[in-house]
Amino acid sequence: MSESVSTYAWEITDEEVAARHGVPLERILRYDMNTSPVAPALVAERLGQPFWPPLNEYPWTDYRALTEAAAAHVGARREEILVGCGADEVLDMCTRAFLRAGEAAVIPVPTYAMFLVVVEQRGGRVVTVPRRPAEEGFGVDVEALAEAVAREDARLVFLCRPNNPTGSIEPRAAVLELLARIPGATVVVDEAYAEFAGDSLVSERERLPNLVVVRTLSKAFGLAGVRVGYAVASRLRIAEIERFRPPGSISTVSATIGEAALRRPDAMRATVARLAAERERFAERLRSLGWLVHPSVANFLLVRPDGSGPAAAVAARMLARGMVPRTFDLRHPLADHLRLTVRTPEDDDRLVAVFAAEEVRP
Ligand code: PMP
Repeated sequence: MSESVSTYAWEITDEEVAARHGVPLERILRYDMNTSPVAPALVAERLGQPFWPPLNEYPWTDYRALTEAAAAHVGARREEILVGCGADEVLDMCTRAFLRAGEAAVIPVPTYAMFLVVVEQRGGRVVTVPRRPAEEGFGVDVEALAEAVAREDARLVFLCRPNNPTGSIEPRAAVLELLARIPGATVVVDEAYAEFAGDSLVSERERLPNLVVVRTLSKAFGLAGVRVGYAVASRLRIAEIERFRPPGSISTVSATIGEAALRRPDAMRATVARLAAERERFAERLRSLGWLVHPSVANFLLVRPDGSGPAAAVAARMLARGMVPRTFDLRHPLADHLRLTVRTPEDDDRLVAVFAAEEVRP
């Protein structure tokens, strides 16, 4: 494999944080993963039920029950859904289906790092287009994107909505304009955080056959460890991606829990409401420290820790107490920022206290 291929920088493990910073394992708080602070109760309920599909057998390759549950959740038909081992595998399948080696994929940045990785791993060319600055809400420049697609004869565009790591959401009209202007390219809209934003482009799939929406159970459903994601698109687009779907990448255990969660979205809705309230409270507390906190519709906040020192020093101070922020390397346009997952009020207050006069030093 070529040495120039981007690799995803795997997150440091809890064990490594504990060993490196001398913090007890149970004190470690992940502010870097954008996951839910707890798994929903239905997982324990489902695990405790007497009937399980036989684990000595392979899962049925059509994942019918899981696929139907995902279809019901988003208001689509079964043929308009494709399930995978997390959104990441679905993104990879989309790349394999729609991009050949040497072809260009256009990606507005900053955004989810995995888009670049999957394109480069498949031998594609990454063409990045900068998003507008923070003062303009990190929006995409539709004109520049359409121009890049035409210039590079790009086959694929990746758009994260809401965007990780900015927490911003692209106005619907801008995405629809882009989709209409580039009918020859497939636009993969990563909606990993859509349930938090309460807005989705799923309803546009029939009118816009070049749209593929990608969703996951890792965020609002609180099931990152279960590894279930899915694509929603027109029947024909799904059939094209289907050719690259492995027969059994979702375990029977995960498919069963994922189905149960999708059939009971009440638990997810409660998580979303709780985290939205906590997001605003946490943001206010961080602002009271003097930090710049960008508006967010997701379960994380992009912050610049003004007044508390450079981002790297703030990150080091957090790590010394077992709190792990998402940092950006020096060449990244957000190098002076941190991304913080919204957790529980108790956890978040522990973080704020580190930078407020109120911290009681051990
Ligand atoms: N898309 C985005 C925008 C994400 O932030 C993440 C996880 N950080 C993923 C996809 C990966 O989702 P999954 O756990 O379903 O693979």
